[in-house]
This record gives sequence, C-alpha cells and structure tokens, in this order.
Amino acid sequence: MREYVAEQPTTDFDDVGGLDDAKADLEQAVTWPLQYGPLFDAANTTPPTGVLLHGPPGTGKTLLAKAIAGESEVNFIHVQGPELLDRYVGESEKAVREVFERARQSAPAIVFFDEIDAIAGDRDSLGSDSGVGDRVVSQLLTELDRLSDTPNLVVLAATNRKESLDGALLRSGRLERSIEVPTPDEGTRRAVLDVHTRGMALGENIDLDALAAATEGASSADLTSICREASLLAITELTEQYEGATANDHADELVVTAAQFDQARRSIMGEE
Ligand code: ADP
Repeated sequence: MREYVAEQPTTDFDDVGGLDDAKADLEQAVTWPLQYGPLFDAANTTPPTGVLLHGPPGTGKTLLAKAIAGESEVNFIHVQGPELLDRYVGESEKAVREVFERARQSAPAIVFFDEIDAIAGDRDSLGSDSGVGDRVVSQLLTELDRLSDTPNLVVLAATNRKESLDGALLRSGRLERSIEVPTPDEGTRRAVLDVHTRGMALGENIDLDALAAATEGASSADLTSICREASLLAITELTEQYEGATANDHADELVVTAAQFDQARRSIMGEE
C-alpha cells in the first residue's frame, strides 16, 4: 500500500500565472490561520477549517495547492481521490484515517485531496453500489469534524465537478470555503505564458500578447503544453541541423521561433 508522505513543495505563487483573486483568498484561508493563530484567538474567532478549489480541468488547482504550501513553508500531503478508492474492502477508510494521522504528525501542514469527487460524489454519481463510498465519506467527515483539535492543519480539496459533491462535505466546519479557479481569460493566459517562457530563448519576433489573444478557450495546462511543444520543435530543428551529439555544442544557438510557437498552438488547439 502506498505510504502518504509529507513533502515541502518548492513551488510558490511566482510559478502560478494570474489567478490573483484565488491567490488572495487562499492566503487568507490557509496562510493566515497557520501564521496568525494568536490573532484569531484575540478576535475570538476561528478560521475556515477546509477549503475547496473548484473549476474546469487544467486551470491550476493542484498547482495552487502546492504553491500555497510553498508560500507558507509548511508540509504538504498530496492525496489522489481515485487512488483512495482503489483498495480492498475496508482499506479505503483506513487510508483516510492514516492520511489524517500522518497530517497531524506533520503539522503545520496542508493535506490536499485532489479529485475529491471520486471519493465524495453524491450517491447518484457513485451508482447504486455506493457502500464503499458511503463509508469513506463518513470517515472523511469524522476527520474533518476533528480538525479544530489541530489548529495548524489545513485541509484543501479540489474538484472539476463541485455540483456532484456530497452536500454534507460542504457544511460549516468542513470544506466551508469555496474558491473558484476559472477558465483563464486573456490576461491570465498572458500571465501563464510569461511563467512558462521564463528563461526560454525566445526569437525576437515572438508576440506573446497575440498568442494569448489567439488561445481563447485553452486551459492553462494547454498553454503549458504549447510552450513545451514549441521548445521541442526548436530542439528537433537544431538536432536536424547538427548531426547527433555535436548538436549539444550549439546549445547557445537554440532559439524558439514564432513559427514554432504557431505550429505548437495549432497542434495543441486541435487546428491540424
Ligand atoms: P487542475 O488541478 O486545475 O486540473 P493543474 O494544477 O494540475 O490543473 O495544472 C496542470 C499543469 O498546467 C500544471 O502543472 C502547470 O504546469 C500548468 N498550469 C495550470 N495552471 C497554471 C497557471 N495558472 N500558471 C502556470 N501554469 C499553470
């Protein structure tokens, strides 16, 4: 069985393009409780116990979760929802318990449930044979209800299908705060392109503003793929120009051109 380990992500907000509202909300919901415990005491109030990131696939929810852990310099435990279900009878609930045990030992920490809809979807979406799902959800609810015993432990979760989540999960004291991570608008797309072209040798005629404008409907993950694909095309061209390993001697000549970006864009956007 896979052990859940606490890591310390090196990712931070600089690695996340745009999404300023989501970053500010996360900072308030996650970093503040971890950092300003005494202030919450003085105000005689409690921070939100759990936070749900929701929005379409590839918009940066997982990236944001890691980045807020990196920003707050706390431990991070990454749990894939579907992985928890893929166990022998009774093992899924045990795994949920183990995750929280590990998280309490690692505190200050963030425990992140990616694709939480896989384990806590509503009864209909899990089908009629939802016995396992029910037990996992109730274990999860029990653990969430105990969260206030460990003030420096924050639970984050992410889903592409908020509407299909078991409503009990979203009640006060559980994943009570929701943060939307929307499909990127043009400004966000431009910011994501900035992040992924940082340190890249770009040809002089490259117009990232135009690329951001021409990628309406793309997710941030698609933009990341465009940048990677354009780089690969540039590498391919150089290896074709110089035979075999001698291409390495010409690494300083590597430049990613506008034509390569355009080809990558068309391929990722499904235009060819
Ligand atoms: P989600 O969890 O919303 O499905 P991810 O966070 O897994 O999406 O994003 C997939 C990849 O896309 C990330 O690893 C990252 O490389 C890139 N990406 C997504 N959003 C952003 C962003 N806002 N800024 C920079 N890169 C991003």
